Amino acid sequence: MTTAFNNYLNKHNYPKIDLKAILFDMDGVLYDSMKWHAKSWKETMDEFDIPSTSEEFYLYEGMVGSHTINDLMKREKGREATEDEIKTIYKRKTELFSKYNDGSLIPYAYDFVKMVHDAGLTCVVVTGSGQPTLINKLEHNFPGLFQKELMVTAFDVKHGKPHPEPYLMGLEKAGHLKPNEAIVVENAPRGVEAAVAAGIFTIAINTGPMPDKVLADAGADIVLPSMKALYDRWDELYGIIKATKV
Ligand code: CA
Repeated sequence: MTTAFNNYLNKHNYPKIDLKAILFDMDGVLYDSMKWHAKSWKETMDEFDIPSTSEEFYLYEGMVGSHTINDLMKREKGREATEDEIKTIYKRKTELFSKYNDGSLIPYAYDFVKMVHDAGLTCVVVTGSGQPTLINKLEHNFPGLFQKELMVTAFDVKHGKPHPEPYLMGLEKAGHLKPNEAIVVENAPRGVEAAVAAGIFTIAINTGPMPDKVLADAGADIVLPSMKALYDRWDELYGIIKATKV
């Protein structure tokens, strides 16, 4: 663990991590929703006669929906998707997701957010999702722990993950923070790439079907098997974070 922090500090030439905020990805980190996203994407693509596999949507996870649609269109049909197609396909995917999603949380997500929030850290959600009711859902499941003004969603950014913009905006919203004043909790390779490109220490939790290596290869500083593991090891991690100096 200490090695991961030291490697990060050396790479960016930071004297330490002065932790003020934790930036959380949403699907697969807070909500156990990735299986429903994958199922909805696959069924939507089948309906529109665009070949895909359920598994590949775990790789695209975190990307803005329109980019996923356009990438598949280019691959399978050899052309860009039109605005209308993007709208229609994404609408159908959203419909199916609403039908399947049972709203269940990742085990220990609430406990972890509550713990770090009560320890005085600012908690920010940075998601590629564009569901209009997102904040209500968050407020219902994590009452008082996230603020609407601090959220970064698909509506806020021009470039989705793996571009660093969502996480850079998260730093801004959290209080004009520098990259070494926050850490990111992510579960998807494209999300990890975005966080790493933003220069932020990135903890990946592997809540999906992919091997840990995919997350490590994407650049995650630490890969943990679950939110519970992060919760259980937080004292140790926070101790190392606070101790880091030149
Ligand atoms: Ca995710």
